[in-house]
Amino acid sequence: MKIFIKILFFLIIANSCAENKIIEIKYTSNSLADRFVFLALSLGEHDKDYVDAYFGEDSIRDEAKKQNLSLRRIKIESIKLLEAIDSINVENEEIRRMKFLFATIRAMNARINHLLGYDYLFDQEAKFIYKANPPHYSNDHFQSILDRLGKLLPGKGDILPRYENFRKAFIIPDDKIDTVFKRAIEESHRRTKENLSLPQGEHFTLEYVKDKPWSGYNWYQGNGQSLIQINLDQPIYIDRAIDIAAHEGYPGHHTFLLRIEAEYVKKRKWAEFTLYPLFSPMSLLAEGLANFGIEVVFPGDEKVKFEKEVLFPLAEINSSDADKYYKIQELVSKLNFSRNEVARNFLDGIFSEEEAISYSMKYSLMSHSRAKQSLSFIKKYRAYIINYNHGLDLVRKYISHKAGDNPEKIWEVYTDLISNPYLPSDLLLPDEKK
Ligand SMILES: [Zn+2]
Repeated sequence: MKIFIKILFFLIIANSCAENKIIEIKYTSNSLADRFVFLALSLGEHDKDYVDAYFGEDSIRDEAKKQNLSLRRIKIESIKLLEAIDSINVENEEIRRMKFLFATIRAMNARINHLLGYDYLFDQEAKFIYKANPPHYSNDHFQSILDRLGKLLPGKGDILPRYENFRKAFIIPDDKIDTVFKRAIEESHRRTKENLSLPQGEHFTLEYVKDKPWSGYNWYQGNGQSLIQINLDQPIYIDRAIDIAAHEGYPGHHTFLLRIEAEYVKKRKWAEFTLYPLFSPMSLLAEGLANFGIEVVFPGDEKVKFEKEVLFPLAEINSSDADKYYKIQELVSKLNFSRNEVARNFLDGIFSEEEAISYSMKYSLMSHSRAKQSLSFIKKYRAYIINYNHGLDLVRKYISHKAGDNPEKIWEVYTDLISNPYLPSDLLLPDEKK
């Protein structure tokens, strides 16, 4: 570590002397990674959402705070890093490592441009930050799903009030939320441990919060520890317990980040993985894997079975209409891409706030307050929204291509994806690569 700090200080001093002179710095892949961490932490000083997790040395963050580089300066330095990566000679797994770092720094650059006032269109941001081309869906596409829902839901007239009314019976009562969540987490944990190795002592703390733009958040803190927050602003329906337990915990974000720490930081000593930059291609995989993790840990009808047999009684919810509820929820999940349409139209200046909210109510079947919450998410995280649906599609297609419907093989491919630096383009099937 002493050597690492010496290199870091050399780079910092070299760069601070380089205002008007050209000083050639010979980078190695490790010193490039160290410099990236310093710049990312410097960016984090301007953008509180950028560094989602950091579990490296405090002294590097302290130095970033102290130097307080301007956004413009971070941008210039990051371009220099891209040039250095472009000309570095590396072999074997270092090639993939540098490709991943290059994509991460390009995304960082796009985020800086946004912070400096450059107005990216939604699709441009998806491409430059997440390396993704999310699909466009027409209103007719969503309307055809709503028509099918209309035939299933009791009553007549507008879909949203009928949907809200029907699913009211499946809200977990406030005094049962903790019990239901703890049981869902225990089961996801047990099943995950049976299929992939988790380090000794890994653990997360559960906390209930209010007034947030998201429904759940995993804050990874290093050494296998996370803080998982669950937002109680909106009613929590019975099927969300396993969704959140699997997405945020096992085998989702908590598992993903502790595997990253074990594989990249502890085993390979790759400094860039001591930091998870939220606005980067890694998020497309992180969210896609977290969402697909629900199906991995509860394959086929096992989720519904477990919910009906264990969680319904714990929540004291009557399960007589459960089959209809699941049928409806399956159709509603197909409306998820409508959130991208809201974000695209809103961020591209086509929808006003009111139009974005009414679109979400009509095509995403969100209540007014849920639609407002969703819009505040879009305002804060912007094109990040694609990571949940497009990321899920990407991961699902890749895993089913590699593993079919063999549960053991699915765990194997899933484990590989959370243990290696993959980029979204690595997951494209041969006919999708252009
Ligand atoms: Zn997530």
